[in-house]
Amino acid sequence: MSEAETNPAPAPPLMCPSAQPEMEDSVVLGVLENTSAGQRLAWLEKPQPVTLQLLALTGEVDPRQIFRFAARCEESRCVHFDGQDCRLAARIVQILPVAVDALPPCRLRPTCRWYQQEGRAACLRCPEVVTQLENPTAEMVQAATPQ
Ligand code: SF4
Repeated sequence: MSEAETNPAPAPPLMCPSAQPEMEDSVVLGVLENTSAGQRLAWLEKPQPVTLQLLALTGEVDPRQIFRFAARCEESRCVHFDGQDCRLAARIVQILPVAVDALPPCRLRPTCRWYQQEGRAACLRCPEVVTQLENPTAEMVQAATPQ
C-alpha cells in the first residue's frame, strides 16, 4: 500500500459563503447587483483571492457593498456556530423565501458549509444573502440575528 492510501489527504476546510474580506483564505465569491427584487449575487466564474489591489477597486465604497466574500469557516470563533452546525445557514433556510429555482453556478459548493449542512435549500436562497445589510428586510434581520 502506498503512503497516499494509508494516509489519505485531509478534507479541505469548509468555507463560509458570507464572510469578511479580512478572514482566512478569503475570496471574492461574486458581485452584488441591484435588481427589481433587491440585491442579488452574481457569481464570479471562479472565486478570486482577496488582495489589497482587489479591495482598492471599490475606491471610497466599502468593498462589502460591492462584493460578497467567502472565507474559511471560523467555527467556534463565530457567533453563529453552535459547536456542530452553522445556525445562520439554518435560519436562512427556515426564514428566507427561495430566491431562485435552480442551483446557482457556484464553484464554492464542494467546500461550502451551508451547502454541506443544508443542501440545495441553502443555494436557492444564497443569491439574496447580503453580508453587510444596509436596508434589511425584517426577514433578513431575523435570519441574521443569533438567538
Ligand atoms: S450557492 Fe450554495 S454552495 Fe454556493 S455559496 Fe451559496 S450556499 Fe454555498
